[in-house]
Amino acid sequence: KVRTRFAPSPTGFIHLGNIRSALYPWAFARSTGGEFVLRIEDTDLERSSQAAVDVILEGMQWLGLDHDEGPYYQMQRMDRYKEVLAQMRAKDLVYPCYMSVAELDALRERQMANKEKPRYDGTWRPEPGKQLPPVPEGVQPVLRFRNPTGGSVVWEDKVKGRIEISNEELDDLVIARPDGTPTYNFCVVVDDIDMRITHVIRGDDHVNNTPRQINIFRALGQEPPVYAHLPTVLNEQGEKMSKRNGAKPVTQFRDEGFLADAVVNYLARLGWSHGDDEIFSREQFLQWFGLDHLGTSAGRFDEAKLRWVNQQHMKAMDDAALAQLVAAQMKKLGVMPDERLPRICGLLKDRCDTTVALAEWAARFYQPVQGSGEDRAKHLTDGVRPAISMLAKMLEGVPWEKAAIAESLKEVLRATGLKMPQLAMPVRVLVLGTPQTPSLDAVLELLPREVVVERLRRAEI
Ligand code: GLU
Repeated sequence: KVRTRFAPSPTGFIHLGNIRSALYPWAFARSTGGEFVLRIEDTDLERSSQAAVDVILEGMQWLGLDHDEGPYYQMQRMDRYKEVLAQMRAKDLVYPCYMSVAELDALRERQMANKEKPRYDGTWRPEPGKQLPPVPEGVQPVLRFRNPTGGSVVWEDKVKGRIEISNEELDDLVIARPDGTPTYNFCVVVDDIDMRITHVIRGDDHVNNTPRQINIFRALGQEPPVYAHLPTVLNEQGEKMSKRNGAKPVTQFRDEGFLADAVVNYLARLGWSHGDDEIFSREQFLQWFGLDHLGTSAGRFDEAKLRWVNQQHMKAMDDAALAQLVAAQMKKLGVMPDERLPRICGLLKDRCDTTVALAEWAARFYQPVQGSGEDRAKHLTDGVRPAISMLAKMLEGVPWEKAAIAESLKEVLRATGLKMPQLAMPVRVLVLGTPQTPSLDAVLELLPREVVVERLRRAEI
């Protein structure tokens, strides 16, 4: 059974680039009938925060990336890591190293001077017949992993293809600090084993850790999982996306009125493709998704494209369902929507690209008109005032529906000789405060008759 995981470090607010590393393992588990595990890698106590954990959980919930197990927290698994460390010690898979920081620095400087890659030289690695230096007094050792010396580590990466790293390039990794706390690469392996992870799908910033992790897997008598290392997500400036250069937390997109399905669609395409398909539902994505079409080059975040995708999803949505989301945004603006909202959304959804923009537009149907004096001066010329009065009078008496309203507009045109835009623009400005609205008869129909007539009458003052 496929088991994947998302293993974020809660050291900053998770952004879209990060959460794409949750989307793919989630989709792979869901599309194969597998299981998806959430693991919070919170061992960096200085940089981890509960607030960052909350954004991870909220963001995943919003996007519908539900997990079957977890969240596990690494800080709560310390005893388990220490247990495995003890087993490794007993099997001589690790050894204590007493090299001081000063000695390590000196070693590194010698190597750099010789143009060698800095690496631990194995001073404290026990070998048959080798005399180890005397143990210094009062020094707590680190534990180092006995990395294999010959051969190489090979894996078939689902994104990058075959990767081979010679063991010569890997030194003996520190897997426990002097105070006994386990280090990152070791915890990841223990977790991936205990959580029975079959496929590790993660960012390629971890590709250098993989050969070390594979060696630890094998030392523990386990076969490593399948790996897929995803290329980085770049921001609009072409830099690695990060909160330091302005990437927004995932939840901010929710607050700005993006649809979860649209964000999933957009992120899915940012590193994976299914032919030329750009717009698809979550169900289609899960049907199509596989590790074979993961892209090998870095995706670049493009907010304009995301907005376009969002608008396509809004347009495809049922008006009543869309109205529910818009209603929530309107309430945040202090506006109480009513039963007209689904139809208002239907009218406006192809001119707004977020539910917030749609809510702001829809609020015009519920609030006193706030037009600019400039629009009024431009469109409400003296020549058109009599026509507006005529229209107001006529609208007082017709059945309040689109066809009758359209007929009244035409009658005024016939009686005055004006062209439709000459009449429609000032009516829009007077009634909704903007010259840009959807079809006028449809808009007027969605406002109470009294409101329309009263607003038109204001042209007379
Ligand atoms: N905690 C790591 C990160 O947030 C991910 C580790 C992994 O996926 O193996 O970058």
